[in-house]
Amino acid sequence: MEKLTIHILLVEDSRSDAHLLRRLILYADQEQWQMLHVERLSEAINASRQNSAFTFDNSQIASIKQRRFDLVLLDLSLPDSIGLDTLKEYRAAVPDIPVVVLTGLDDENLALQALAEGAQDYLVKDQMTIQRLVRAIRYAIERSEILNQLRESEERTRQALAKEQELNELKSNFVAMVSHEFRTPMTTIRTAVDILEYNSKKLTDDRRTKYFERIQNAINQMLHLLDEILFLSKTEAAKLEYKPTLVDLVNFCTELTDILQVNAGSQHSIIFTFQGEFTQAQIDEDLLNCIFTNLISNAIKYSPQNSIIWFDLICKDRLATFQVRDHGMGIPLKDQTSLFQTFYRASNVGVIQGTGLGLTIVKKCVELHGGHIQLESEQDVGTTVIVTLPLQ
Ligand code: ATP
Ligand code: MG
Repeated sequence: MEKLTIHILLVEDSRSDAHLLRRLILYADQEQWQMLHVERLSEAINASRQNSAFTFDNSQIASIKQRRFDLVLLDLSLPDSIGLDTLKEYRAAVPDIPVVVLTGLDDENLALQALAEGAQDYLVKDQMTIQRLVRAIRYAIERSEILNQLRESEERTRQALAKEQELNELKSNFVAMVSHEFRTPMTTIRTAVDILEYNSKKLTDDRRTKYFERIQNAINQMLHLLDEILFLSKTEAAKLEYKPTLVDLVNFCTELTDILQVNAGSQHSIIFTFQGEFTQAQIDEDLLNCIFTNLISNAIKYSPQNSIIWFDLICKDRLATFQVRDHGMGIPLKDQTSLFQTFYRASNVGVIQGTGLGLTIVKKCVELHGGHIQLESEQDVGTTVIVTLPLQ
C-alpha cells in the first residue's frame, strides 16, 4: 500500500538544530516525510498560506498544488519574533494547522503556556529522540483532526438547531395567520346567520337572498383557503411529487385558456399566443395547471373589466417561457420583493379578496420543475409574470 506523506514545516533559526531534526526525521522513515525548513516567522506564515507549489529542502519542486502542511514544528525564539507571541501570531494567521512547539531545557514553563495558547504539544530540543519526535507529530496531527471533526459536528448541530428554531417560528406564525384569515369569513357567516335567524320576518326576499349569498361567498373563501393551505403543507412536507409526463404544451395552454375564459365570462378576454420550435415537453400537468390557473386568475382579479389578459408561450432552445400579461392595477414597487411570502398582499389591493398564498404556491410548483419565476410590474400600468421551465 502507498504510504501517506506527512508535510512538515520546520520553523527554526538555529541551523544545527534544524540539521539535527532533519536527520532524525530522515532516519525515522524517509519515504513518509516531506519537510520545508524556514528560519523566520514571516516566512513560515507565507509558506503556510501558499497553496501553490513550493520548494522543499531536498531541492525538489514539490508538485503538491492545494497541499497544505500537516504540522508545524515551531521554535519560539526567531529573529523576527520571540516567546509566546511567535505562537500567537502564527495561530492568528494560520489557525488550522497544528503546531508543536520546540523549546530549550529551561523553557518548560513557556511550553506549558504555549499549550494553553493552542499548541498541540511541545518537544524539548535537547531531549529529542526519534520515538518522541514521531509520537509527538502523529499525536498532534490526530488530535488536530479530531478537534476539527468536533468543530465541524458542533457547527452542523448549531445549524440544525437554528433551522429547527426558524421552522418552529414559521409554523407558529403560519398558524396565527391562518386563524386570522379564517376569522373574517367566520364572522361574516355568524353575522348573516344571526340576522336571518332573528330578523327574518322583517327582511325582504332580496335582502334575504343577499345574506345567503354572503354566507355562500364566505364558505367558498374558507374552502379556497383550506385548499391552498393543504397544497402548501404538502409542498412543505415534500409530499408533493413531481410527476412529469409527455404533454403537448400548446394543447395544454389552449384547453386551460378555454376553461378559464368560461369562468371569467365576458368581462375579460384571455388570448393565448404561441411561438416556437417544439410543442411536446416532459412536465407535470397538475403542477402546470396550478401555476397558470393562479397567475391568470390574478391577472383577471387585479385588472379592470373588459381588459385583455395575454397568455404567451415561447418554446426555444429546450426552454419553455410562459408569460401572463395584464393591463391592470399593477403592484407598487415597495411590495414587489415580498409577494412570494405566504399571506403577503400588496398595499393597493383595496377590497379585492385574496389570501396571499397563490404566488407562494406558484413558486413552489415552478421550483419543482427546476424552473424560474420573475415578476415585472408598474402600478396603474400592468403586470407581467414570466415563468421559464427547462425541458429535458
Ligand atoms: P390568493 O391566495 O387567493 O391567490 P392573492 O391573489 O391575494 O390571494 P397571490 O396570488 O399570492 O395572493 O398574490 C399576492 C399579491 O400580489 C396579491 O394580493 C396582489 O397584491 C399582488 N398581485 C399578484 N398578481 C397581481 C397582478 N396580476 N396584478 C396586480 N397585483 C397582483
Ligand atoms: Mg392570487
